[in-house]
Amino acid sequence: MRTGWKIAAVLLLAVVGAAYWLLIDNRTGPIAERPIDIGALRRAAAAMPGPRPDAIDLEIVAQGTSPATLLVAGGGFGKAGIAAVAFRVRGPGGTVLIDSGLTREQAGTLDMTDYDAAAQQRVEAAMDSADHIVFTHEHYDHIGGFAASRGMANNAAKLFLPRTQYLPLAAELGRAGKSAQALPPPVERQGATALAPGVAVMPMPGHTPGSQLIYVALASGREYLFPGDVTSMERNLSETRGRSRLVADWLAPENRRAVIGWIKGLRTLQARTPGLTIAFQHDRDWLLRQRNDGAFHIGFGDPARVQARKPAGQAQTTSVQAAPFADGPAFSSLTQGAAG
Ligand SMILES: [Zn+2]
Repeated sequence: MRTGWKIAAVLLLAVVGAAYWLLIDNRTGPIAERPIDIGALRRAAAAMPGPRPDAIDLEIVAQGTSPATLLVAGGGFGKAGIAAVAFRVRGPGGTVLIDSGLTREQAGTLDMTDYDAAAQQRVEAAMDSADHIVFTHEHYDHIGGFAASRGMANNAAKLFLPRTQYLPLAAELGRAGKSAQALPPPVERQGATALAPGVAVMPMPGHTPGSQLIYVALASGREYLFPGDVTSMERNLSETRGRSRLVADWLAPENRRAVIGWIKGLRTLQARTPGLTIAFQHDRDWLLRQRNDGAFHIGFGDPARVQARKPAGQAQTTSVQAAPFADGPAFSSLTQGAAG
C-alpha cells in the first residue's frame, strides 16, 4: 500500500513537472539577445528612390480563441483572442502586401472559426493590384491565402521570395493543387534589403528558417516593424515570453532560443526608438485596438470611398471618432469579433 502511494506521488510529480515544462516554463535568463540593426533597415529603405508610402491598411480575415499559455508561455490558462491578417502598405510609390491571409479550412485548423470570406476576397484583390508581395514567414496562415488565390500565377512575379521560403511555398502550392512553375527565382541576400521606397527586409530566422523582419517608414516619418510570429502576441514582447514548449517544440517546431533572443532584441530596440510601431499580427485584442490608435487604417476597402462615409458613421462616440476608417468594410467584422 505504502509503495502504491509512493508510485502515485512520483507519477503525479512527473505529470506536474511535464505540464510545467511544456506549458508554463519561460526562463529566458541565459538566452543571448539578438540585436536588431534598425540603422541598416533605415538605410536600405531610404536607398530605394521614389516617394515613401502614405499609410498601412490592415484586414482581419479570421478570428478565434486559444489558451493564452500556448502562444505566451506562462500566460495563463484563460482564452486569448487570436486572429489572422494581411497588411497593405500603400502610397504614390506603389503597394506592398505583407502576408496573404489563409483559407477557411486553414483558419479552422487554428481554431479561428470566425472566418470572413469577404475579407479574404479583399486580400486577393489587393494581391492582384499590389506591386510587391512579401511574407513574414512560410507558415500556411501567412502564405496560404496567396497559394489558394485565383491570381496566384499572375501575381507570383511580385513575390520577394528568400531561398528559405521557396520550398515551403512550393509545397503549399502543391497542397492547393497548383504548380510552383510561376514562382520567381528565390532571392539570395544577407542583412537588410530594400524592397520598395520606405520598405526594407532582413532575415530573422528562428520561428522558421525563412522568417524575416519587415520595416516600413511612412512619408510622415512614422516607423513600423513586422516581426511575423516572433511576437505573435503583444505579451510576447511586453513580458519577454516565448511560445510554450508544447507549441515551440512539438506542434509547430521552432528554434525557441533564437525567437526569445529576437524578442529581447526587439525590446531593446523598442525602448530606444520612440514612436516605433511593432505589429502583433495574431493578437486579436491588439488588432482591435488599432482602430482607435491611428497607426493602421482598418480594412482593404477603397480608402477614398470609406473616408467619404466617415461623418455619418462617426457621430456617436469619441473613441470611434478617433478612427480614421472606422466605418470601413472590415469594421463590422471587427466589432462582431470583439463581442464574440
Ligand atoms: Zn502565424
